Amino acid sequence: MPLVNAIDLVREASAKNAAVLAFVCIDYNEARAVVNAAEQTGKPVIIMLLPEYVTKYSLNGFGEFAAMVKFMAEHTDARVGLHLDHSYDEAEARWAIECGFTSIMFDASRDDLETNIRRTRAMVEYAHARGVAVESELGSVGLASERWGEKTDLFTKPDAVALFCRETGVDSLAVAIGNAHGDYLQTPRLDLERLDEINAATETPLVLHGGSGIPEDQLVEAFRRGINKFNYGTDVKRCYIHAVRDYMARHDPPRSLDVLGIPAAVQRAMTELIARKLSLSEL
Ligand SMILES: [Zn+2]
Repeated sequence: MPLVNAIDLVREASAKNAAVLAFVCIDYNEARAVVNAAEQTGKPVIIMLLPEYVTKYSLNGFGEFAAMVKFMAEHTDARVGLHLDHSYDEAEARWAIECGFTSIMFDASRDDLETNIRRTRAMVEYAHARGVAVESELGSVGLASERWGEKTDLFTKPDAVALFCRETGVDSLAVAIGNAHGDYLQTPRLDLERLDEINAATETPLVLHGGSGIPEDQLVEAFRRGINKFNYGTDVKRCYIHAVRDYMARHDPPRSLDVLGIPAAVQRAMTELIARKLSLSEL
């Protein structure tokens, strides 16, 4: 079926009091694993690209990635959306829109509230004029390795949420409620009371980043209490690395044609993990 606009999946999740799962992918193997898992489970999925995967390593990949995901979506019965994860830069976000991303995250959350509102509103106007949806962030999710999930002063403040959503017109909002990106140093504890207050303050669908490592009972509860999109990445990256390492250990010393078996090995491992996580979704 045609590529689905990711925001339509988020809105459907919002209407059903559930969450759609979104996966940061860096290449064909990861995107393929996400689509495989969607086919196996019958759940819709969002495939995301983190701009850094392209820009930090001087790759020329926005358009290629968008075209690849679009092709995959058109050749499966699963519902697949495409989304650009954290873009901190206006020019980069505009370039991704040119390249075919129909949904983007524009993240000015490290600016003060007034600047965040001003920059986000301008990006929303630009994107909406082109039929593209915008996710943004209020509070700051940050890095688990730096214990951002414990920095309550950086959590999303419920009393700023209504103002921010009204002034910017964003389509979805990432919140900081004890979650953080990457590997947690200790098991996180989501501030679900804060989530209730945020959810009561706005109709805008809410997004939870930093999903790897959050206990599943807390996730299910967060989905029930207003999280409509759930970003899952670090566990999949770890699974990818382990699958490559296991494969190479089985082919030691490697012959050059052993490389042919790597995609199947890593896709199999990641598909299994992603399908298991997708079973948490009630969509
Ligand atoms: Zn994030």
